[in-house]
Amino acid sequence: MEIKEAIEILTRLRFDDDDISIAIEKAIYALEKQMPQDARILSMSQAEGCVGYWVCPVCRSGWGDEFEYCPECGQKVRYADE
Ligand SMILES: [Zn+2]
Repeated sequence: MEIKEAIEILTRLRFDDDDISIAIEKAIYALEKQMPQDARILSMSQAEGCVGYWVCPVCRSGWGDEFEYCPECGQKVRYADE
């Protein structure tokens, strides 16, 4: 095997590994978003000045309705009464 050929193979492998690593990272991130996390509810006094009464456990954005997924970051959420 020529050195050049070995370098080409190693270069290809390195990129493959990067792509696989990135793909795995993205898949884990997407799967984590599907695992429901508890939305926090704010008391009326805490909710003052906030968009809503529920708070996303991941991105901390607030909302008023009981969405299945955080409208801001896409995290699946569950509520205390479920
Ligand atoms: Zn969120």
